[in-house]
Formats: sequence, structure tokens, C-alpha cells
Amino acid sequence: WAIMFIVLNAERLENELESTQRQFQKMATTDFLTGIANSRLFRESGEHEIQRTRRYNGTLAVLMIDLDYFKKVNDAYGHAVGDKVLVAFTDICKKNLRDFDIFGRLGGEEFAILLPQTETNNARILAERLCSIVARTDIEAEDKILRITVSIGVSVLLSEEDSLDKMLRRADDAMYEAKRNGRNQVAVAL
Ligand code: GH3
Ligand code: MG
Ligand code: MG
Repeated sequence: WAIMFIVLNAERLENELESTQRQFQKMATTDFLTGIANSRLFRESGEHEIQRTRRYNGTLAVLMIDLDYFKKVNDAYGHAVGDKVLVAFTDICKKNLRDFDIFGRLGGEEFAILLPQTETNNARILAERLCSIVARTDIEAEDKILRITVSIGVSVLLSEEDSLDKMLRRADDAMYEAKRNGRNQVAVAL
């Protein structure tokens, strides 16, 4: 009986340890506010996706998304409403993505979406669809109903010398071009 007790206890402890490890892993890779991938998981998945794309001679696109005038939302309604808007925004995006797209919060009000098996034109079409869906969706936060807009930059994986960082930088530059051109729009990297 004593041996049985020890064996069962050891098994229980091992299961608990595994479950705790899984929880830590999830916490370390998930954005606590929105539940999507954090920047660390997004980048890890991105490196993986680039390798896979090259192996199969495929295509890969990325969208860089930044909320427009988000500081004004916080200033006008408070940080708690701002947080709810961020969650509502991610919910809108999730509804419009495929299972294998990779959606991450890179920081603050800046997000990125990796689109496997997608070339420039289809990435632009999706970006434009997201942009217009976001702009015409009522967001309920506390007792307020508000609307936001986003600016999106698009880039695709190029030659062998290309990298996730370079792709993200091109998408970021394009996103700033969308901002300069008046926001609530999409720009594609050359
Ligand atoms: P732009 O159109 O040029 O992007 O203007 P903006 O106001 O969105 O840009 P700016 O970078 O000046 O402000 C971003 C704001 O996002 C500032 C910061 O308070 C807010 N923000 C960042 N992270 C969070 C967050 O987790 N919750 C909330 N509520 N606000 C956040
Ligand atoms: Mg912004
Ligand atoms: Mg920003």
C-alpha cells in the first residue's frame, strides 16, 4: 500500500507539473489583454512560416495594422474603454482570418497578421476588407458605442536574402505611408 501510495502521488505530481508548465508556456506566448499571440510567439511562428514557405516554394504575406488616433480614444473615454476597443478590434479580425493565419499583438495598438499561401494582390484585398469592416463596426465599450479606423501596410516575402524583420519593416513603412495619405486605408510595399 505504501508503494502504491508513493507511485500514485508521483504520478499526480508529474501531471500537475506538466499542467503548470503548459500554463507558463501559454502565459509566456499569449497577450494577456486580447488572448492572441504576443510578439514573441508571432516572431517564432513567423520564422517557422518563412522556412515552410521556402521549402514548398510558396508565398507569404504580412499585414501591419495600427489603430488610427488611438490616443484620442483613451483621452476621450479612458484607458478601460481603450482596452475594450483593442479586444473588440482583435475579435473583428479573428472572424475574418483563416485557421492558419498568424495574428499577433506586436505592442500597444500595433498588430500584425501573417498570411501563408497569399500573394500581394490577395493580401491587399484582405487588408482592404478588414479596413472597411473595422470602420463600419459599432464597438460597444462600457456604456459607449464608438467606431475606430485602422491603417494597414502590406508586404510579401521576397528573395532568399529576405527575412521576417525586413518584411515587417517594409510593411511598417507602407503602414506609415497609409497614415500620411490620410489613415483608414491600405498601402502596399513596393
Ligand atoms: P496614429 O493615428 O498616428 O497611430 O495616432 P495614435 O494616437 O494611434 O498613435 P500614438 O502612437 O501617438 O498613440 C498610441 C496610443 O495607444 C498611446 C497609448 O496610450 C495607447 N495604448 C498603447 N497600448 C495600450 C493599451 O494596452 N491599452 C490602452 N487603452 N491604450 C494603449
Ligand atoms: Mg496608432
Ligand atoms: Mg502605434
